[in-house]
Amino acid sequence: MKDCIFCKIISGEINTAFLYEDEICVAFKDKNPKAKTHLLILPKKHIASVAVMNEGDEQTIGHLVKCAKEIAENLNLPGYKLQINVGRDGGQEVFHIHIHLLSNYG
Ligand code: 5GP
Ligand code: ZN
Repeated sequence: MKDCIFCKIISGEINTAFLYEDEICVAFKDKNPKAKTHLLILPKKHIASVAVMNEGDEQTIGHLVKCAKEIAENLNLPGYKLQINVGRDGGQEVFHIHIHLLSNYG
């Protein structure tokens, strides 16, 4: 998607180190961390928001949650929060769906 900053990160146009990558998603550190560990997990497919999910996207979103769990286990995080901001009024700034993984551990 043209002009989407996260699509540019996924395509490599904006250089960002991935902590995790598979055929469906990537994970990288938030550039403005709000916790000791603050990662973003997002699909390679451009889905703008939970508010505009289409039929079938729930599988992709479910995969993101599974990856978040596995990343947290690999980082030995004893506890963490998963957060999805939905819509401008829900605090969403980047309109490419993503899960925040936030932890005070790590
Ligand atoms: P939102 O408010 O949309 O849920 O979260 C967007 C998040 O993306 C923010 O926490 C912001 O710091 C992060 N972010 C925005 N642009 C970039 C970027 O270019 N690189 C990285 N690593 N994070 C970004
Ligand atoms: Zn995008």
